[in-house]
Amino acid sequence: MKRDFIFVVALIFLQAYNTVPEAWQPAPVYAASYAAGSPARTPAPATSLFIVQQDHIITPTPILTNEPTPTAEPIQLGIERVVIVSFDGMRPDAIEAAGMTNLLNLIESSAYTFTARTISYSATLPGHTSMLSGLCMEKHGMRWNGNNLYRGYAVGTNIFDLTHDAGMKSIMDVGKEKLRLIAEPETTDDFEVHATEAQIAAAAVELIPSDFDLLFIHFPSADLMGHKHGWMTNAQFGALREGDAALGKILAALDENGMRETTLVIVTADHGGHDKTHDGTLIEDYHIPWIVSGPGVIPQQLTSSIRIMDTAATTAYALGLPIPPEWDGIPVYEAFGVAAQDVHYRNEDCE
Ligand SMILES: [Zn+2]
Repeated sequence: MKRDFIFVVALIFLQAYNTVPEAWQPAPVYAASYAAGSPARTPAPATSLFIVQQDHIITPTPILTNEPTPTAEPIQLGIERVVIVSFDGMRPDAIEAAGMTNLLNLIESSAYTFTARTISYSATLPGHTSMLSGLCMEKHGMRWNGNNLYRGYAVGTNIFDLTHDAGMKSIMDVGKEKLRLIAEPETTDDFEVHATEAQIAAAAVELIPSDFDLLFIHFPSADLMGHKHGWMTNAQFGALREGDAALGKILAALDENGMRETTLVIVTADHGGHDKTHDGTLIEDYHIPWIVSGPGVIPQQLTSSIRIMDTAATTAYALGLPIPPEWDGIPVYEAFGVAAQDVHYRNEDCE
């Protein structure tokens, strides 16, 4: 609050002297194109106002408006599509313990953290909904973890709404039927459910040559083995290695089709776990890995605080889509070596 107050006072002072920097002012031009259903790409501010230091990024709280926030021009990054891979229940420390060689190789060319955080209700459906909607649970309304279609789909604007409205092609290729509840069927071009990691990868490999803008992959088995045999057990490690092999096939398919160089790949999870549960009683349930590689990414260990909602926001940023002002996620600018931008607002109270 004190920081907000100081910022508002500073802004009033600057306005009084007519010296408000352009980048701090709302972007009214953008609202019209968004309302007309044709999200336009708005150039980023020409200069950054913020000081990036090695251990933290200073971001003033912006003035909230009802207009979509402009997104930095993404074309310079060379990203043509995004693949999000979620390993259900994958703890960050399981990656090395299980010997996930493909993922470990990917991490070497990635920006990554092993201390990203899922939402307070660390469960599959609410967590994945936050991952793909950019919203905390109280906003997307997916407060249950069962496949109950009668309760309806998640509410709010998710990443598939954005891609659909922009005429982009999106695919969900998942291992749990209930993930259908994240996005209404008309907002995704394809939705496939398969039982095993190998089958999910095979479906993706078949889809990749016809290209897409957004591909969401979900590998279910680490969670299933965790509930059955325990987290960080050999049974779960085996499931993670199956997922790792499947990830390798998907990356190879991107390579073979000449798409890897223009694809942003995000690997993450919906929650961790301990014993045979992920009920939120231990920090191990909350920490998730967040790994991104592709055009514009600077390989590094990320130091900024990353939350599960940031996956949707980073995807929107990468695809040049407008980030809805109500989203709680913000793009992981640090991964691209870009200073945090004032146009995005993070709701720290959001659960
Ligand atoms: Zn899960």
